[in-house]
Order: sequence, then C-alpha cells, then structure tokens
Amino acid sequence: MKDRILLCLAHMSGREMKFIEEAFADNWVVPLGPNVNGFEKDLEEFVNDRQGETPLDKKVVCLSAGTAAVHLGLLACGVTQGDEVIVQSFTFCASSHPVTYLGATPVFVDSEPESWNMDPELLETAILDRIEKTGRKPKAIIPVALYGMPYQIDRIMEIGHKYGIPIVEDAAEGLGSRFRGQVLGTFGQYGVLSFNGNKMITTSGGGALICPDEESRKEILFYATQAREAYPYYQHEKIGYNYRMSNICAGIGRGQMTVLDEHIAHHRHLQELYCELTADIDGITMHCNPNPDFDSNFWLCTALLSPSLRIKGQDEVYRQKVSGAVGGAAGVTHAASSTTTDCQPNDNVEALRLILDAANIESRPLWKPMHRQPVYRNAPAYVNGVSASLFATGICLPSGPHVTDDHLRYIVDNIRAAIEG
Ligand SMILES: *Cc1c(COP(=O)(O)O)cnc(C)c1O
Repeated sequence: MKDRILLCLAHMSGREMKFIEEAFADNWVVPLGPNVNGFEKDLEEFVNDRQGETPLDKKVVCLSAGTAAVHLGLLACGVTQGDEVIVQSFTFCASSHPVTYLGATPVFVDSEPESWNMDPELLETAILDRIEKTGRKPKAIIPVALYGMPYQIDRIMEIGHKYGIPIVEDAAEGLGSRFRGQVLGTFGQYGVLSFNGNKMITTSGGGALICPDEESRKEILFYATQAREAYPYYQHEKIGYNYRMSNICAGIGRGQMTVLDEHIAHHRHLQELYCELTADIDGITMHCNPNPDFDSNFWLCTALLSPSLRIKGQDEVYRQKVSGAVGGAAGVTHAASSTTTDCQPNDNVEALRLILDAANIESRPLWKPMHRQPVYRNAPAYVNGVSASLFATGICLPSGPHVTDDHLRYIVDNIRAAIEG
C-alpha cells in the first residue's frame, strides 16, 4: 500500500465548512453560539433515541474535551479532596486522570473476559472492601466502553443503586454503542462522550457530558464557564473551569452528525469482515459482542493472539527503544528509559505490530491497564488478571470510514504472511 492505513482517522462529511462559514459570517467565533446549541440538540436527539420506544429526555452539554466531561461529571457527583472513585482499570488514562484533578484517589477494578470491561462482581468486592478499610463509600463508579464495547450496565447500575453510588459512564469510545437498544452514556447519572480526532466523530477536539435533567445541565454549564455568579461584575463563589466548546468546533460536529450513522455502520461492517477473513486463522480471535444485549460501535476492531502463535521475528523484538509514543498526534513524549517494562505485550504481538508497520499498516497494542501504570502504583486495585492478560495478547487493527474492504483484505493477508510455518 502506498498510503499508510491508519488505525482510526477523522473523516469529514463535506458539510462541516458550511457550519463554520456561518459562524464566521455571523461573527460567532467564540465558545458559545448557534453551532454549539445546534450540536447539542443533534446529540440529544441521537442519545435519547430508543429504537421506536419512547425517547429519553437526557440533556447534553458540549465541552472542550472528553477529559473535561469526566472531570465535570465527577465534580457534579460531589467528588472532592480525599474521596475515592472506582474506575475500570482497563482504559485510557483520561478516565482516571480527572479523579486526581479533584484531589481524589482512583480505585481500579479489573475486567471480565466477555466484554473486557468492568467486572461487576469485582466491583462489589471493591466497594465492600473500601467501606471496610476506609469507613466510607466510594463517591462514584466509572465503567468504560473500551473500543466501543458496552459494559454490563444492568449489573453495574444495580450495584450502584444498592450502595447509593452514582455511575459516570465513560462512553468516549462508545458513541452510538447500545445495550438492549439504549445508547451508552444514558444509563448512569452522567455520560461522557469524546470528539477527539481519532474518535467515532470529531470536532478536531471536544467532548460532551450527558446530564440527567435541565437543572444538572445548567450546573455543568456554570462550572464549564468559570462559575460566574449573576452580578453585573465578576463575582465568584465557586472554582470553575474554562471547558466550553467553541462554536467553530461545534460547527464541525454538526457536519459530522450527518454521517454518524454511516460511520457506525461502516465500523460494524469492518468488524464483520475481519471476523469472516480471520475465521480460519488458528491463534487469532476477534473481540465480538458477547451476546445480543451488547451492540458495539466497534470503534476499534481488536484481536487476541494466542501465546502459542509464532510470528516471524518475534525472538528479536524489544531490542531497541522506541522514539515517540503511540496515539498522540500532537503529543510531546518523554524518552523511554528502557526497552522493556514489567508489563508489556507478548513478543508475538510486538512482532506482528512491526511487520504490519513495515507494510504501511498502523496497529497498536491494547491499552495498558491503569493499575500497572507507574503513575498509579499507590492506587488501590482489585484485580483478577483479565486486563493484564488482554494487554499482553491483544492488538488494535485499522477501523473506520477510511478503511476499505480492499485495505482490510490487504491487512489480513499481511497477518497471514506474518505467521511462521
Ligand atoms: C478519548 C477518551 C477520553 C477523553 O476524551 P478526550 O476528548 O480525548 O479528552 C476519555 N476516556 C476514554 C476511554 C477515551 O478513549
């Protein structure tokens, strides 16, 4: 392939410029305006849909990032200095970092092997143990729709109710995924969406918080705009944040909403094709919906490599330091201090990544669990080995509107050719 096949990439509908031009024409180049209102309305319609049943009545606030949405969702749940928040360990760091912004401590809970997301049994164990050890309940629970796959939200909600702990759903990767026909992010007290450049849809950068009602929507809006009291001058009684989405970004979002359903359909189509084309390859298993309750958007299509699968060159991997980090288009990374860490993908996974890379195909290991990240070494964790094992054996494959059926055949051909013997 001449052009590199990227993992996941923003894909424009062609309608974005119209909304942006309107914003310029009407002088709305600010973090509020008709595009922000319009995008919120579009999102509300989308997330409230229940496939023919009475729609929900959730409210949406557009913010500058999904990370900001996690932060404000937790703030709205009353999370503060010294509190604990239960977070799915198998996630991207934006689920847990905002817990620390509030001076609280994340308590990590491992995954179950079916959805790869928060294990409800372990969640309950963790709640009971935290109550015993600290005398206090965790303040919130954050399950994560990793790679778009729904969590066992019925069980998790049940446990949340039982102990009176609010759920903040991190559906940043799961825009449009459904559980029993209902859109993720609408089950818990709050739901987080992301429109970063590599997510299901993009506003270049941005996010949103799904709120239970108008009152909480207003409260989130208040904190997202520096917490200004109603006086003719700046009057502050609370600490606020500058987290509102710009009207320009929201214009991109409105354009993107016109292709969201198409994008989701394409991700699901690719997933099916991967399953079909890899079905006869021993040692490679695609991650699929565990049962018909789960309806993933397959933001990223992911596969597991059996440890016994031999990939060409696997005895030579991890000899050289890597320059740059994964996933950060604009990120500045620190130089790696070693070629290996005590928790990393198996040699065959890294060998496959290198072979695909040489064939101009971007792939990526699964996310490294937070309880194995050095920065969280002191955070309590309730583990069963599932996420560490997924991290050791998994790989993310190119997924999204820019990936054609021909690309996908080329990718699977290269996987086949990489296998020894
Ligand atoms: C991307 C992401 C976020 C944060 O979204 P940003 O818009 O990048 O700040 C949060 N959680 C998960 C799981 C994500 O993948």
